[in-house]
Amino acid sequence: MIMNPQNGDILALAGYPNYNLNEPYSPNTDELKANWDSLNQSDKTKSLQAMWRNKAISDTYEPGSTFKLVTASASLEEKITEVDKEGEFCCTGSIEVAGTRIKCWRHYRPHGPESLRQALMNSCNPVFIGLGQKLGVHKYYEYLEKFGFLRRTGVDLPGEAGSIFLKEEKVGPVELRNNSIWSKV
Ligand SMILES: [Zn+2]
Repeated sequence: MIMNPQNGDILALAGYPNYNLNEPYSPNTDELKANWDSLNQSDKTKSLQAMWRNKAISDTYEPGSTFKLVTASASLEEKITEVDKEGEFCCTGSIEVAGTRIKCWRHYRPHGPESLRQALMNSCNPVFIGLGQKLGVHKYYEYLEKFGFLRRTGVDLPGEAGSIFLKEEKVGPVELRNNSIWSKV
């Protein structure tokens, strides 16, 4: 998907494997072609529906570390961090949350002292877990709401999937930690 970041306009959107719009009932992959005659009608219909599916609109996808930008933005807005304060954070290779020690992806050579900007460049897990803890669940959810993650975009294409988030009241320290860096650690 190519989007104009200034206003959210979708400039282009494509999925793969694609299919020939002139032959929407023809299987689109070698595997499906090979198996086609052995499928019963119900499986053929399911396969075609899967083929027609607009994945960019109808499927959900874990954002991974890109979600650290959301944690960072909320933290900046709440003034609990700054962009370039030298040594504001110190990655020791892990952080403890609710009795469990969570590793930074670079635990074997911790990032050490770093500013927020450097933590984003390093995609340093402990920094964003720590910021998530400072924000707290309620503030965090306020920002999820403000960013629009808790509702559909209303894109004018059919079949838009909603997002998958726990309800705020179900989120404890462990879930908040996972949301802050979007990793099921
Ligand atoms: Zn780190």
